[in-house]
Amino acid sequence: MSVKTVIVTGGSSGIGLSISELLIKEQYNVIILDLITPNKCDAIFFKCDITNETEVVTTFQTILKQHSTIYGVINNAGIICDKMIWKMTSEEFDKVINVNLKGTWLVCRESAKIMRQQNYGRIINISSRAWLGNPGQTNYSASKAGIIGLSRALALELGKYNVSVNVIAPGLIDTPLTQSLSPEVRQKLINLQPQKNIGKPEDVAQAVSFLLNEKTNFINGQLLYVDGGRSIGLSI
Ligand code: NAD
Repeated sequence: MSVKTVIVTGGSSGIGLSISELLIKEQYNVIILDLITPNKCDAIFFKCDITNETEVVTTFQTILKQHSTIYGVINNAGIICDKMIWKMTSEEFDKVINVNLKGTWLVCRESAKIMRQQNYGRIINISSRAWLGNPGQTNYSASKAGIIGLSRALALELGKYNVSVNVIAPGLIDTPLTQSLSPEVRQKLINLQPQKNIGKPEDVAQAVSFLLNEKTNFINGQLLYVDGGRSIGLSI
């Protein structure tokens, strides 16, 4: 295979942008699907709302026509809408589940149709350390736990087609998403880190690059934390 095409959802900002930039440097042909256009990035861009089934299906058809094969798909688009459950509306629950879980599932389904035919492919889904549970994030934690179950099932379905499916669970990473938190909340979260620091989007991008590499094709159905050790638990 010559140039490998990789799709990155939510690639216009934060972690997704960093993934896209690193993969471009590594000579992948990067296609970003996002609601907003990326600034200063050489990736091909498609405006696509991953919660919109028609948009996802037609975008994948167009990409396939233009590029004929898809080597990898990184499901990175995600949102938060944090509130204690007693203040959360069912619309706020649905909104987060729709983007983070249903959107990821839709993109996985369209990717699976193509990769099964090709008899190769890599799917990497971005979950979160918060799947373990975070107060104020019943919607987000549920969506990110769902991504892990979905990925494990998909790894079993696609294994015989030479397609691997893995999950990355970032911890606290410095992006527009976490920059929107109040300075007090941000500091509180940093204090909970074993290394007392916040990760960089590039830390997650490096893990994506590792899992995309042809040399790591025996890693399948796994969950890789990129969280400075927070998932170990401070009680240990
Ligand atoms: P971000 O807000 O900087 O970027 C998210 C991108 O997703 C944006 O470009 C946004 O436009 C896009 N997006 C949102 N809804 C979309 C939709 N319906 N269709 C297409 N694109 C959509 O966020 P980030 O911090 O870079 O987060 C990226 C991923 O990493 C998310 O899945 C997030 O849950 C996960 N994550 C982030 C952290 C962190 O600390 N930043 C920690 C763990 C997991």
